[in-house]
Amino acid sequence: MALDVSRALMYPGQSYPFEEAVTLPTMEILDDMVSFEEVRLAGTFTGAEKIVGFSGTLVATVHAHCGRCVSDVARSVRLPFDEAFAKTPDPDDPDLYPLDGHTVDLTDLAKDVLLLDLPMRFLCSQACKGLCPVCGVNRNIQRCTCQEGGTKLPNPFSALSEMLTKDEEV
Ligand SMILES: [Zn+2]
Ligand SMILES: [Zn+2]
Repeated sequence: MALDVSRALMYPGQSYPFEEAVTLPTMEILDDMVSFEEVRLAGTFTGAEKIVGFSGTLVATVHAHCGRCVSDVARSVRLPFDEAFAKTPDPDDPDLYPLDGHTVDLTDLAKDVLLLDLPMRFLCSQACKGLCPVCGVNRNIQRCTCQEGGTKLPNPFSALSEMLTKDEEV
């Protein structure tokens, strides 16, 4: 959504409050589908010559999947930001966002702030037991016989070493 900042350009040094909702598409990040809901930015914007600075707080709910058991994970985030929009790109400052006439679009800013905060992987809890590598049950919810019976898990390396030994025999 476009936010009109003509006041800030007209009266540099003056701060104006703003509150904006932003819609972001679901993104594939590190093999996970991550979606963002209720993304809102609030704070103030201040004009300087040909530049409008935005600072405030972004709040959102991030939906992703646990890296161990793939169950849904929802995380509320509250992130500070302090960025600027410029009419002309400055080669010395590639972090400036483009100012289109008298309006700015906070979508890219919101996306960048959120992506910077993403963990390497989401976990439903630090203690998540993950999925059984043998039968695939979610070990947080139920135990499987692979564990209860004390059955030895097939070791992928034993099969490999068997193949290697056979190879040597030939
Ligand atoms: Zn989990
Ligand atoms: Zn199992």
